[in-house]
Parts: sequence; C-alpha cells; structure tokens
Amino acid sequence: MKVTEHLQKAAGKTLFSIEILPPLKGRSMQEIYQGIDPLLEFNPSFIDVTYHREEYVYKKRPDGFLEKKSVRKRPGTVGICAAIMNKYGIDAVPHIICGGFSKDETENALIDLSFLGIDNVLVLRGDSIKTEGSFVPEPDGNAYAIDLLEQVVSMNKGQYLDDDLQGVAPTKFCIGVAGYPEKHFEAPNMRTDLKYLKAKVDAGAEYIVTQMFFNNEKYFEFVKACREMDINIPIIPGIKVLTTKKQLTVLPSIFHIDIPDDLEDAIEATKTNEDLKEAGIEWTIQQCKELKAAGVPCIHFYTMGNSEICRRVASQVY
Ligand code: FAD
Repeated sequence: MKVTEHLQKAAGKTLFSIEILPPLKGRSMQEIYQGIDPLLEFNPSFIDVTYHREEYVYKKRPDGFLEKKSVRKRPGTVGICAAIMNKYGIDAVPHIICGGFSKDETENALIDLSFLGIDNVLVLRGDSIKTEGSFVPEPDGNAYAIDLLEQVVSMNKGQYLDDDLQGVAPTKFCIGVAGYPEKHFEAPNMRTDLKYLKAKVDAGAEYIVTQMFFNNEKYFEFVKACREMDINIPIIPGIKVLTTKKQLTVLPSIFHIDIPDDLEDAIEATKTNEDLKEAGIEWTIQQCKELKAAGVPCIHFYTMGNSEICRRVASQVY
C-alpha cells in the first residue's frame, strides 16, 4: 500500500513509522529483524530503508603504495525492503538517490523494486562522497532530486528511457521527498530552498519527510511557510533521540540543525550516560506529544539502530 493511502486511512490519527539503516557489510539480516521486532507493538505503517552510496578508502599494497578502492559499507537496501515486506507484511520504503547512478541504472533499479511489489520510494539527491567537496552527479545521471523524481513520474506514466519499447507497463510508485525545517545547508536561504521544494511537489511528490529537528517551532514554521507557498501535501516530521554528549556537536555538523538551548542545558546537567540518555528520551517524548497534539499525520523515527530508545519514546506517545 502507498504511504499516502496509509495517511488517508488514518483519518487524522498520527501514524508511527521508522527509518532503518542497512547493517554494515558482512553482518546479518537478523540485526534488522531484532531492530524491528520490539517496535511491532506500535504498528508501524511503513519502514524506510536508507541507501548508502560508495565511499573511497585507501588500502596499503604490499609494495607500500596506497590503492584507492571504492567500497559500499551498507549495501542491501532493496533486499532488506523485500525481506521486511515478506516477513512482516509492512510496507517498506527504499530510499533512492541520484549519486552514483546513471539514469539507465536507476531505471533498472526501479524495475527491480516494481517487480518486488514495492509501491513507495523516497527520492533524494544524496550527499557528496566523503572525499569530494560537493555533490557530483554521474555524467549520465540525475543531478537533483527533482530530476530523479521526474524519471520516476515518467515511469509511472509508462515512459521509459528507450522510446522504442512496446507494451510498456507503467510503474505505480508513491513518491516522497525530503524537506528541511532548518534549510538545506547548500541553499542560500529558506525562500530558495522552499522554491525548489515546491518544484518537487509540482513535479509529482506526494508527501514530504523532514530532516530531524529538536525544536518543534522550526517544524511548525516550516509547515506554515510551505502552506503559504501552496505546498499542500502531508509533511511528516522526522524525529531522532539525542543519546550521547558527542551528538551535541556531531548532529549539527552532519545534519546542519540546531540543538535548542534547553536541550543542551539538560544534557550538560547530567552526570552519567544513563541520565543523559533519559534526558534525551524525555525531550523527545515531550516533542512527540506536542506534535501529536498538533495533529501531525505521522511521526517518523530515525532509529539509527537503536530501537530500544525508540520503543521507550513510542510507549509514552502512542
Ligand atoms: P535536492 O532536493 O536535490 O536539493 C539539494 C540542494 O539543491 C538544496 O539546497 C536545494 O535547495 C537545491 N536545489 C534543488 N533543486 C535545485 C535546482 N533545480 N537547481 C539548483 N538548486 C537546486 N542521503 C542518502 O545518501 N541516503 C539516504 O537514504 C538519505 N535519506 C534521507 C532521508 C531524509 C528524510 C532526508 C531529509 C535526507 C536524507 N538523505 C539521504 C540526505 C540527502 O540526500 C541530502 O540532504 C542531500 O544533500 C539533499 O538531498 P535532497 O533530496 O533534499 O536534494
């Protein structure tokens, strides 16, 4: 079932959904199941599975020279989605990205997803490779999320890259996109970022999932600004629990978000790791209660491999 159908069926109730990461290469699918099982009691409407592109590492050769190698540390997005749907009957949402894919490879990947009965995709540009300063698309790939989105929309209309194909079956993907309550870091300002978000919506995006935020006001202002721009699709807040002191600096540097003063103070005031975790959980519970009271369509939890923390929050909110 499509994410938008879940949202419509919920009729105003706030749904519960999660995002998981594929395990590191070489680890087993059991890790994924162990992460999902404790959250089944909250009836996740859909489970997003992130996509991780290749990175470059330098390996020392026997002759002492360094060899540049391309590695994918977390492969398996498509297989995990199929396994989740098969084992739990829960809709899986693979993330698909522009980076590292030609349009032809994208088309073939989308055909795989369609054959597996996957109805949903979250369409993203992807970040730059860690060793590259800025995002570089493949020469024959998509440069922005909107280009990838237009490719999916074309396939939904039965238009594949090869015009000569006969008797083409249209795909039927429901398409989600990313939104940034605190602005995407590359955008010169919020107005420009929203302009490009609106373009994605006009091109066929059906719902938005936000970057994580710790201050609900940022989300409420973002939704208001979107509505003023005539962006009228559901905007699903993405939520993460802060669980370590290091995250006070790591999260802003990776995700370009602010940690509110009160949360920082609460974290700094804790004396043990256990207390710190409790402070992070308590903050998120209050955040989620407020979002739910405001009638958000769904709360989407970035579990990042820690389902116990997510379970603690969800048990107080749902
Ligand atoms: P875009 O919408 O293409 O926007 C990128 C930047 O370009 C923005 O600054 C925008 O304002 C600007 N822009 C957009 N269109 C144009 C245009 N036509 N001309 C000029 N400028 C333009 N990354 C992964 O690699 N794998 C994942 O699984 C993953 N999952 C994510 C899930 C969520 C919910 C979110 C919020 C992010 C996720 N990301 C993931 C990170 C994401 O790939 C990065 O944030 C990336 O830098 C931007 O992706 P986007 O889809 O928002 O890009």
